[in-house]
Amino acid sequence: VVLVGNLIGEDHVNYVLMYNMLTGIRIGVSRCQAKVKRALTDEDFTARHKFSFDIVGNELTPSAKYDFKFKDYAPWVFRELREDYFHLDPADYLLSLTSKYILSELGSPGKSGSFFYFSRDYRFIIKTIHHSEHKFLLSILKDYHQHIKNNPHTLLSRFYGLHRVKLPRGNKIHFVIMNNLFPPHRDVHETFDLKGSTVGREYPEAKAATNPRAVLKDLNWINRGKMLELGPEKRALLTEQLRRDAELLRKIHVMDYSLLIGIHKMERGNRDNVRRNTLKVFSPDIPNGMTRRAAAANAKGGTSPEAIAMRRAMRESDPKRLGHGKGTIRLPEEDTGDRRDFLFYQDEGGLRATDEANDPLDKIYYLGVIDILTPYSGLKKLEHFWKGLSADRHKISPVEPGEYADRFFSFMKAIMRGGGGGERFKAE
Ligand code: ATP
Ligand code: CA
Ligand code: CA
Repeated sequence: VVLVGNLIGEDHVNYVLMYNMLTGIRIGVSRCQAKVKRALTDEDFTARHKFSFDIVGNELTPSAKYDFKFKDYAPWVFRELREDYFHLDPADYLLSLTSKYILSELGSPGKSGSFFYFSRDYRFIIKTIHHSEHKFLLSILKDYHQHIKNNPHTLLSRFYGLHRVKLPRGNKIHFVIMNNLFPPHRDVHETFDLKGSTVGREYPEAKAATNPRAVLKDLNWINRGKMLELGPEKRALLTEQLRRDAELLRKIHVMDYSLLIGIHKMERGNRDNVRRNTLKVFSPDIPNGMTRRAAAANAKGGTSPEAIAMRRAMRESDPKRLGHGKGTIRLPEEDTGDRRDFLFYQDEGGLRATDEANDPLDKIYYLGVIDILTPYSGLKKLEHFWKGLSADRHKISPVEPGEYADRFFSFMKAIMRGGGGGERFKAE
């Protein structure tokens, strides 16, 4: 799969921000990674590591193109999550996030105003988050960590890092790094974002007909008569994992999350190339020649000639090299196998549909629970109150977390073939 996109230059509104985020990650993450791994302590959950970057540079931080501050939150906790539970290779992680290109595909897809950036290999997503979401993630980090530890096959968003960039004028941008549910090597032909609520949950079908990238919602799913085609075996496993995940979400009092489902139809393959020409490509000014070995050496803060040379190259890289033009990204044609450890991501990075005899069908689902950082706060309570006056209180989206989790879970059970069907919801 070759993706072509426009190269984002320094005049792009978010260029500086992207540059700072990636530089911060590169330095912050490799600093933590350079130390000998140790068991977590309570303090690790509240730890923050600060870095100050400026144009001149100093002993601790190399010079950067812009002045900014970077904060790495609970770095040891996220390191353990990445390495022990999400099975990420440290060098790979760093390389994916900081090598030549970062794709920026989703501008601001949600109402929330968050920005989404893809790593160049399409494996990771950087999502800017609101300060309240940031504080919330920190406040539940222990529960989240525990849940991930006990649920290696969780469907919840995998958070790999929590960071903040502070610009000289004082603007603070918080962001997380998480897994991209969708695979680099397969087109996703249909996308659904399901909450188990029907009020206002419809993407206009007329628009959907001409937009293969539309994110469809609950009512589209129901009206199209869709089912998650999973045989008894996968159905049972998925139901149980969803039950446990929804249980955690209930416990930490969140709501508004969704089950994101991408469907790849194997008979259509990749010929539509849905993603072509939709990208913006950002080059964060990191030397082209960064090899996996160099990244590994750098990650370890190594003193090998290679690592030293690379650090120097990073310092000296010339911003003027950047410009406008075409950026080309070659994504892997094959499943790279990095998700094989995970039950629901092991068939071509996803979950292959099966029939009642558990035999494979020609469809792959890419699914997970996303947007899990909205606590049932005062704001939501207010929204609940006002909306509750006009619509059926149980069908609207902002209900209290226990009710949200119940409704979410029963909808998901119902949409699995054999689970009773979405019909039940249509009738309500
Ligand atoms: P809102 O709060 O208005 O729903 P948001 O900015 O919090 O929006 P999300 O709900 O997290 O955004 O995501 C918006 C869309 O971005 C999703 O519907 C999905 O299409 C895409 N998306 C989000 N997270 C992922 C992910 N981990 N993998 C693939 N796509 C994702
Ligand atoms: Ca959402
Ligand atoms: Ca949100």
